[in-house]
Amino acid sequence: MTPLKSYAHTGTVPLGGAVATIAAGGLVATIAGVIYGYAFFWIPFVYLNFLVTLVFAGVIGGTVAIVAKFGKIRNNWFVAGVAILMTLWGLYVYWGSYLLAMAGWGDVGLTAFDPFVVYGFAGFLFENGSWGIGKGGPITGWFLVLFWVAEIGTILVVSLMASMMHASVPFCESCQEWADQEKGVARLDATGDEPAWQQVLGGDLPALAEFSPSRGLAPQFVRLDLARCPRCDTSRFLSIHKVQMTVDKDGNPTEKEEQLITNAMITPEQYAVVETCGMLYREQLAEKIAVDDEPEHDPGNESPMAWEAPPAQGEK
Ligand SMILES: [Zn+2]
Repeated sequence: MTPLKSYAHTGTVPLGGAVATIAAGGLVATIAGVIYGYAFFWIPFVYLNFLVTLVFAGVIGGTVAIVAKFGKIRNNWFVAGVAILMTLWGLYVYWGSYLLAMAGWGDVGLTAFDPFVVYGFAGFLFENGSWGIGKGGPITGWFLVLFWVAEIGTILVVSLMASMMHASVPFCESCQEWADQEKGVARLDATGDEPAWQQVLGGDLPALAEFSPSRGLAPQFVRLDLARCPRCDTSRFLSIHKVQMTVDKDGNPTEKEEQLITNAMITPEQYAVVETCGMLYREQLAEKIAVDDEPEHDPGNESPMAWEAPPAQGEK
């Protein structure tokens, strides 16, 4: 039995795809930069501004991700690099546009985008500021620089994250096609630390039968994701993640994921084993939903028996 081995991109960057990604990223960054600059000047609400900041970053990174996938770029370093450069360009346009919004088109016009003018504008803001929090007057000096660094840092991180949204989609080199992903094919009642996982990672997929489907809203489970080439039988992939749900003090659930393996290259036979596992999981889920729905579907039924019977099956 051969141990599972992860797929890796070839690193290929098709020229057409590269040009399209840079052009689309640059165009969107330019437009988004102008909108962000004017929005920042005209919107006096800090929270709304923060939202605009996130959208600005997400749109640039997201555009790069989408066009890079369309252009069949199998190189995440290239995608990340383009996203960062285009985001920095968008930030530059944003600075020029902010000056334009502040000074008015008649006074500065396109010189607002002259690097020396932008540099001088930054110096002006450093001395005089332009916005403040509460009644304290405008924020200036190094304290303002701190905000700039935080803003630029947030934007770069968000943009980079958005640009990586297809980073783990495998590509079939023989068909020149991206694989179709199906996430959460099954959720298994496991922590991911059971010895049987070593068997699974060793290529013994039927060892999955050891685990039963995870029930309802279990706080901890192991998730199986599949991916396959839409055209051929050879490119098939399995990802296994440990998932732990935690609830923070505000009651918001967060999912912590840890990979056991990502995009392991599997045979059609191994793929079939995982699909069977998924089928059992869905059957179990359907049963569970049917049981949960019963009282709602039949509110007139007051027989105590109808209420007592079902949960026993799902209880630990
Ligand atoms: Zn294929």
